[in-house]
Amino acid sequence: MSSMDGSGSHPAVDAKESLRSVLFGLPEEDLDELARVAVVRAVPSGEVVCREGSPGDAFYVLVGGRMEMLQHLDDDSERVLHLAGPGEFFGEMAIVHGGVRTATVRAVEPSTVLEIGREPFLRVLGRSPALAVRIVVYLTSRLRDADQQAIQELRRANEELRRTLHRLQRLDRTKTDFIRVSAHELRTPVAALLGYAQMMQDNPLAQSDDELSTLVSGVVASTERLHRVFNSILDLSRVVDGDAEIHRSPVSMSVTLQSIEDEFSDVTAERGLTVDLKGLRDLPFVQADPDMTYRALRHLFGNAIKYTPDGGQITVTGRAVDVDDLGQCVEVVVQDSGIGIAPEDIDLIFEKFYRTGEVALYSSGTTSFKGGGPGLGLAIVRGVVLAHGGRIWAESPGYDEEACPGSRFVVQIPLEEPGGSPLGEDR
Ligand code: ADP
Repeated sequence: MSSMDGSGSHPAVDAKESLRSVLFGLPEEDLDELARVAVVRAVPSGEVVCREGSPGDAFYVLVGGRMEMLQHLDDDSERVLHLAGPGEFFGEMAIVHGGVRTATVRAVEPSTVLEIGREPFLRVLGRSPALAVRIVVYLTSRLRDADQQAIQELRRANEELRRTLHRLQRLDRTKTDFIRVSAHELRTPVAALLGYAQMMQDNPLAQSDDELSTLVSGVVASTERLHRVFNSILDLSRVVDGDAEIHRSPVSMSVTLQSIEDEFSDVTAERGLTVDLKGLRDLPFVQADPDMTYRALRHLFGNAIKYTPDGGQITVTGRAVDVDDLGQCVEVVVQDSGIGIAPEDIDLIFEKFYRTGEVALYSSGTTSFKGGGPGLGLAIVRGVVLAHGGRIWAESPGYDEEACPGSRFVVQIPLEEPGGSPLGEDR
């Protein structure tokens, strides 16, 4: 009743009895038919019985030994789905679906299987509800095991992610602390250097010599730039780490934005940029830190200038809005017709030291087209907006230096301090 693989190296197996103990409830004639066609195979340790991706041409019952069912992952590693022992079977899924095998089965110790060809297996399955039920019951328990395993793996992965995040946050904090201390230490001598350089620039001796005058102007410009970078780093660490003190008073966005436009008027004229301020006149006052608000909006305006080619358009729009979870806000939108921002960068640009594209790294111009910066500005702007309980985000159809699709930066700042009394009620 049993056929051997010819090696004779394993004990004789009674195929019908083995099948009876695994596929219990099957009528005698079905057991007889399956046993008649079953081939007994001795499988040495390490040998693959069936391979992921191959067609389902046989059904297997594991009679003795142990086999692992595994899947190959993209990085060439393997994931063990299940360790099967005597009495378990495999290979039925690919036959029933008419598809390919979804797992590789490999012996982890010398094992014995009964191999039943696809045709006889389907014939018996077609007439035997008992075999179908047995397969469904077995599959259900395997699915339950797989579920449990997936949950365990997810828990482990989550824990690992949490630990990694914690480690990264600590590293980031260390890095920021180091940069802050360095900036603090270096700012004082750089301020002195700037003072001396400016004195040299004003000196008639330097002014009378063209070559010297150019050199001194270079020193002044570079030192100013260095000074600005140190100041930005110190601002950043104060605002982003939440150490900044906010001194609130009623702020008119209209006056603030008008002053910013005035401050940049020479630059925008020189670069041929058209600036439009809209909807500012009737804006309500905002209870905010006037200095921080000025610097944040000034930076957005400065970026609009920097990332828009000569002759472009900058539009600043203000309006009062009622935002679901923020309440009454003033919303300011700074829109430009510049190079735009790629979707993959749109959130990351608010991270400190994050910069996109090939900006002119060493350009000393803070307002020249694509003039470089240290990548701190938007992190500071976001820190300021968050410190006021507000929200900021960027929108852009994408990055394209030829077509210049433009960008929009939207800032929403609540009129009243969170938990404070509404502004304007007693005015
Ligand atoms: P930076 O000092 O480099 O200007 P920011 O934090 O202000 O740093 O900006 C980060 C990056 O965001 C910039 O390097 C630039 O790539 C992108 N970016 C900011 N504003 C705009 C804008 N209006 N249009 C296009 N890209 C912008």
